[in-house]
Amino acid sequence: MIAAAADSIEHVLSRAIDEVATHFVFLADATPPELGGPYITYMNRPMLDAFGYELRDVLGKNPSMFWGPQTDMDAVRQLRNDIARYRTASGEFLAYRRDGTEFWVRFQGKVLGAAGRPETWIAIGRDITNEHRQRVENAQLAQFKNDLIAMLAHDFRGPLTAIAGFAELMEEVADLEADERRDMLRTIQREAKRLANFAADTLTVARLETDGLTMVNEPFDLAEAAREVLDLYAAREGIALESPAQLPICADRARLQQVLDNLLSNAIKYSTAGSPIEVTLRAGEHEAVIAVRDNGIGIPPEDMPLIYERYARGANARSRGISGTGFGLYVVEAIVRHHGGRIEVESAVNQGTAFTVHIPRTPRS
Ligand code: ADP
Repeated sequence: MIAAAADSIEHVLSRAIDEVATHFVFLADATPPELGGPYITYMNRPMLDAFGYELRDVLGKNPSMFWGPQTDMDAVRQLRNDIARYRTASGEFLAYRRDGTEFWVRFQGKVLGAAGRPETWIAIGRDITNEHRQRVENAQLAQFKNDLIAMLAHDFRGPLTAIAGFAELMEEVADLEADERRDMLRTIQREAKRLANFAADTLTVARLETDGLTMVNEPFDLAEAAREVLDLYAAREGIALESPAQLPICADRARLQQVLDNLLSNAIKYSTAGSPIEVTLRAGEHEAVIAVRDNGIGIPPEDMPLIYERYARGANARSRGISGTGFGLYVVEAIVRHHGGRIEVESAVNQGTAFTVHIPRTPRS
């Protein structure tokens, strides 16, 4: 019986190797795990090369030498159990080369034996790193699209309802007082601005998730660009700008405005109406500095590591029901990084927050 089994193993082996010359093939004896098995008895050249071993390095070793800290060992156990039960089983695993680098493999295994006695395990596999990466990227993209649609539906509704509602009211009510009229117009402007901001951020996030963010480099006056942003918030009292009359820079004008806009709208959102907010621009020899300081609710220390993450919202925002998407700082950080700059934050709970952005005045190659 054993001879018959050995014949069939040889037969299967040579056929397998012929068929799958570029695939990985290894054999292991059926020594049970409690005795340290299975032990590798054969491995083909493509597999040795892919994993960085010679045959003498692997013979008599347990295939667990191919797994490492990030391998899903439950999936490996599942595969082994299935093989031990004479099933043809397959699975995808993160494997480790001899030098510790990782790559994805798919293995299909089967036990060969006779009269219910397992003799040899045969496993055939291949490198699926590219396939795996593509699948992960597709899944992330699909998730991102779902998140975005959910957010669009949620975050557009509020401002649109306000804009439509106030516009209708202004049309219907003929004898509005001047200050009522002004308040309604301000609300319409504010909500329209919020939608425009949201659209700009959404576009930036979409670019970041897909083909990457490209920066336009053009010479412009940052002081003037900043004043333009502040004008949009003229209705909010307590905002002070300290800036040189001019601050020439070569960067992406619209995106730096987006940075200031996001920092300023956060400063307003996370502080009480009318409390002082300082926007400061400074020109260094090689860099421009944009700082936004508020006297608001502050960021709890435990939220600090998360604030630049996509969609991350702090406990300070959630517990107070302050609306937002968690996009703003993610976008700010990405734009600053793409300019070769950096961002710093200082904050104390119930005292306030200061964000400081440093941007090179000429683009780094
Ligand atoms: P959003 O404001 O939409 O929640 P952001 O990405 O702009 O998203 O900010 C992430 C989180 O950082 C916020 O949820 C909030 O917890 C915190 N945060 C940002 N700016 C401030 C600020 N000026 N004061 C207090 N907390 C802030």
